[in-house]
Amino acid sequence: LLEALCQSFEFREDPSFWKDHNVQVIIRIRPLSSSEMSLQGYSRCVRQDSCHTITWTGHPESRFTFDLVADENVSQEMLFKVAGVQMVENCMGGYNSCMFAYGQTGSGKTHTMLGDIEGGTRRHSVNCGMTPRVFEYLFSRIQKEKEARREEKIKFTCKCSFLEIYNEQILDLLDTSSINLQVREDTKKGVYVENLTEVEVTSARDVIQQLVQGSANRKVAATNMNRASSRSHSVFTCIIESKWESQGVTHHRFARLNLVDLAGSERQKSSGAEGERLKEATNINKSLSTLGLVIMNLVNMSNGKSLHVPYRDSKLTFLLQDSLGGNAKTIIIANISPSSCCSLETLSTLKFAQRAKFIKNHAIVNEDASGDVLAMRIQIQQLKKEVSRLQ
Ligand code: ADP
Ligand code: MG
Repeated sequence: LLEALCQSFEFREDPSFWKDHNVQVIIRIRPLSSSEMSLQGYSRCVRQDSCHTITWTGHPESRFTFDLVADENVSQEMLFKVAGVQMVENCMGGYNSCMFAYGQTGSGKTHTMLGDIEGGTRRHSVNCGMTPRVFEYLFSRIQKEKEARREEKIKFTCKCSFLEIYNEQILDLLDTSSINLQVREDTKKGVYVENLTEVEVTSARDVIQQLVQGSANRKVAATNMNRASSRSHSVFTCIIESKWESQGVTHHRFARLNLVDLAGSERQKSSGAEGERLKEATNINKSLSTLGLVIMNLVNMSNGKSLHVPYRDSKLTFLLQDSLGGNAKTIIIANISPSSCCSLETLSTLKFAQRAKFIKNHAIVNEDASGDVLAMRIQIQQLKKEVSRLQ
């Protein structure tokens, strides 16, 4: 089994990982926790059959196929190599990219997306998660690109922001005095959050500093409002812009990278809840259930039905609409617990992930059109010259 898992490295070279335009879906099984292991007669509710397939062993048994099934032996580093490296390459190429972590509370979403960030970058900690690794790699790629393309005077600018959606309200995690921010849509800017703090970052260390600060603010906000952070969604965004000169034309390329740690997908208990608690339960259901509905309608549309996709019905789906059936390359990491005590939630996550696999995106390179047209004109002129020279 371990051998089969190690082959997951082949995904990096294996074009099948990005061969289709669909959302890429990874299942990550976390190790049994010590409390789960101490349960008398504990058992597992899933069996991994290969690095693509997993069987839910309840009744009736159900088998699922994904782009990758990663069990507890797949390290943070391996997962980064399989999914993170390609994501950075896509951003460097001017594609919007998005990674979602989905799953019930305690299934490993934050471990996957952030992991141990206090310890710094991956050189320092094996538990360091996807986001810090992605930025370490991104800045090393930027450095290489600058060196290789010195003549083109290539310049990069990276700006990041960090927000939380809780109770259908947006909180700026880099400036907690900003609450209830609004999502706007603009023909030039696309979808954006008005008045959200954007910080320029020039190294992985800068990014980690913002991640640590934002995560601490998230905890404080949760304590002040007397709630668990598992009930909110967090979105870390980085906009990567590059400018270079080629044959007298200035090119401009940009990509938006979204890293999303979703609220726990377990059913919220609204029974007995009153006031704020009831509102909270309903609203959390709203963002996640709208996400489910958006996915369902996108899937049905890919089967030829014409349907309204309710992106605007929740903050989460409005903000991330490009990543769901739009201009982005998207990866969903669905986290599950292998313990039979989480059996039903695990099945529900596997079903969600299976539906998500059908979403088709339409990613294009975000490059400045005028530059492009000019570059093409120049090319045409050169080709014409070439043709007349040959005649
Ligand atoms: P979530 O964010 O989904 O609520 P966490 O990421 O906080 O869950 O994970 C719950 C616990 O399980 C944490 O103590 C975390 O360190 C541990 N854990 C989760 N996934 C893994 C994994 N793949 N390997 C080791 N420990 C893990
Ligand atoms: Mg978490």
